Amino acid sequence: MQLLDGKYVSNKLKQEIAVEAVELAQKLGRKPHLVAILVGHDGGSETYVASKMKNCETVGFRSTLIRFENTVTETELLHQIEKLNLDHEVDGLIVQLPLPSHIDPERVTEAIDYRKDVDGFHPINLGRMQRNLPCFIPATPYGITLILKEYGIETAGKHCVVVGRSQIVGLPMSILMARNSQPGNCTVTLCHSKTENIASYTQNADILIVAIGKKNFITADMVKKDAVVIDVGMNRESSNETKSGFKLYGDVDFEAVASKASWITPVPGGVGLMTIVGLLKNTLSAARKEIYV
Ligand code: NAP
Repeated sequence: MQLLDGKYVSNKLKQEIAVEAVELAQKLGRKPHLVAILVGHDGGSETYVASKMKNCETVGFRSTLIRFENTVTETELLHQIEKLNLDHEVDGLIVQLPLPSHIDPERVTEAIDYRKDVDGFHPINLGRMQRNLPCFIPATPYGITLILKEYGIETAGKHCVVVGRSQIVGLPMSILMARNSQPGNCTVTLCHSKTENIASYTQNADILIVAIGKKNFITADMVKKDAVVIDVGMNRESSNETKSGFKLYGDVDFEAVASKASWITPVPGGVGLMTIVGLLKNTLSAARKEIYV
């Protein structure tokens, strides 16, 4: 087994981004700028947003966090998004999900100017992605393609099984792997909670990508020998072994599956770090007006 090391690859790519950010800042007369909106105080969301902001500073971007209490109305949130859409000093704009139940995430996603949608969730970006046109690719699937590329993992002609069909991970991932692109050109099977006998599909996967949010769901008997295994899961459990007070587990039983896989991502230290890189690369593209003017 060899590790697909998100720590190594993300550090390498962040160094490259930092160099490009300096050059771009000289050209623009300001740093690339990412704005994140956070509603409420969900522990996971707080951690993810803080990490995004910190990573922006690390690579020389400007970052701004706008916070709202859980009581914010949808209208107030949409008004704030509209203001940021019109602000020429904002390159990328993300709204951390999940949102409180009284706010429609679809309305919020569609309210973000697709030219600033560095999360890649807007229907225009998703539609363009499907058509293999330049766009912002959702950060997690984008990060996964970057790590596959970095390690030269051959994907053409392989059977890729994606478990989980969320709009932000599984579904776009399945499209990227099926596209005529590199990585891509796979024969793709997309499994979800209604799939019967999931193991019968995962056991035939040359590349297995799992994003369901169930600790250690994929066991060794569900994996083909020498498969490439990508674990997107981030399952937080409280722990007194760590400084943060919680421990992260993937959707894959790492210890058991690692002995069978040819390549595997660890949790933590895998896809999570690559997701940040995907977001940073999208923000750089947005500031450069590389995709949309
Ligand atoms: P989500 O929106 O909750 O979607 C979960 C998907 O998994 C759904 O499509 C669901 O099927 C499917 N599913 C649930 N239980 C299943 C089962 N027993 N068998 C087969 N499929 C099942 O989750 P998400 O946002 O994609 O996130 C998935 C995991 O990835 C979570 O642990 C999350 O924290 C993590 N994540 C990590 C990163 C990162 O950067 N590493 C980024 C995003 C998410 P249905 O559609 O049929 O309900």
